Amino acid sequence: MSEVATISTMRSARVRDALAMIDRSGHGLVLLLDEAGRFERTVTDGDLRRLLLSGAGMDDELDVLPRITSLTVTAQAPRREALALMDLHRINHLPVIDEDGRVVNLLERRDIEKPILLSTPHMGENEMTFVEEAFRTNWIAPLGPNVDAFERDIARIAGVAHAAALSSGTAALHLALVLLDVRSGDRVFCSSFTFAASANPIAYQGAVPVFIDAEAESWNMSPRALERALAQAKAAGQLPKAVMVVNLYGQSADMDPILELCNAYNVPVVEDAAESLGATYKGRPSGSFGRLAGFSFNGNKIITTSGGGMLVSDDAALITRARFLSTQARDPAPHYEHSVIGYNYRMSNILAGVGRGQLQVLGERVAARRAVFDAYVAGLADVPGIDWMPEPEWSFSTRWLSTCMIDPTVHKMSATEVIGRLGAEMIEARPLWKPMHRQPVFAGTDYITDGNQSVSDRLFENGLCLPSGSNMSADEIDRVIVMVRKVLGRT
Ligand SMILES: *Cc1c(COP(=O)(O)O)cnc(C)c1O
Repeated sequence: MSEVATISTMRSARVRDALAMIDRSGHGLVLLLDEAGRFERTVTDGDLRRLLLSGAGMDDELDVLPRITSLTVTAQAPRREALALMDLHRINHLPVIDEDGRVVNLLERRDIEKPILLSTPHMGENEMTFVEEAFRTNWIAPLGPNVDAFERDIARIAGVAHAAALSSGTAALHLALVLLDVRSGDRVFCSSFTFAASANPIAYQGAVPVFIDAEAESWNMSPRALERALAQAKAAGQLPKAVMVVNLYGQSADMDPILELCNAYNVPVVEDAAESLGATYKGRPSGSFGRLAGFSFNGNKIITTSGGGMLVSDDAALITRARFLSTQARDPAPHYEHSVIGYNYRMSNILAGVGRGQLQVLGERVAARRAVFDAYVAGLADVPGIDWMPEPEWSFSTRWLSTCMIDPTVHKMSATEVIGRLGAEMIEARPLWKPMHRQPVFAGTDYITDGNQSVSDRLFENGLCLPSGSNMSADEIDRVIVMVRKVLGRT
């Protein structure tokens, strides 16, 4: 407002004064108002230069300027609309006017064109040191000192004895199933509420997924649904070869009852810990509970190698076998000899260097993500009908993504609509994962719900993720809060 005043002038002002005003403000333009203070037009540097070239003098009044109508927007106009107008007319400023035609703000392209994204890579300070070392020593291969060190670091942090660095989290989960001898026709239980990469490796093996619902308490696999699914499978003589338990949005599943059930039926557990590096369950690291677990270092995860994954286990033989399978399964022989099908799944020594640098700041990244979540909760505390992802007392979540449900009985607006409105403001929110049992590619697959109703369906229908990056500024977090309040009618 006060800023607008410093660049506002009238037709009685002189060209000289307008030029001085432009010099001081650094905006490259002034706003011309009429006697009643209503906006008339913008006057740019260029407008004044043209005026002088056409013979006007420095002491002439601005009244000699032609009367044109400059573009404006209202305060209700979404950012995306304002930007589209700027693009169309090749301008970098847009005055925002109220119902009386008064300027309340000046939008500048450079201030509004940067979107707030869901979760972007956040580099630390030492990644380049490890990467440069790889170049200097010519370790540009899917093995080398960075790979070895990254594996040791992850094993320590994840509380497991052994780790194999791989090209992706999906590769880690696939190898886990291969190592557990999952074959064509076998059944594998898998959380329904997850990303497709948890379930696709089951299909890679030609195995049959059975999807298990989430519980409302943690949004992860429901032990109640798992119990029923195991009992049914036992009765039908179709016990699964493995259970894929997913730890979503930075939070572990309720591992004790899940492991108790799986042990009782003698079924091994694979933890999809792609989203939960740095989280704990009852004080123990997420990823240390399954027979095997897979982490992901994709670009949007809490730490990244731009792309990569890690398979971990306490079983040395499994990880040794994983290293063998992930490097094309070459038998020890002077020539190329293969007795099983192998994969090209190993992580490069360069990317492992990025991972080593990233791991040094994992603690800070977790704290930053939790702080983003806490800021949202505090800033929206008085808005009814927002149900945040719960953090049970046994859980320490990294809050990899800040997620919530919009209660449809409180708000007239669906989560999808909220996501759309935020998108128009250049804020990237996303729906929660669409459950696997609703994916066309898995149509007809068995699905066992938590109770009479499906929890994962409700989560998908009402939920959303807000921007959650550890590199978000306080201003960006505030803007998300302000816009969510506005969208939900709580300004
Ligand atoms: C990211 C992710 C994966 C896959 O990891 P990539 O490294 O991208 O292959 C698997 N499961 C879940 C739940 C994920 O979020």
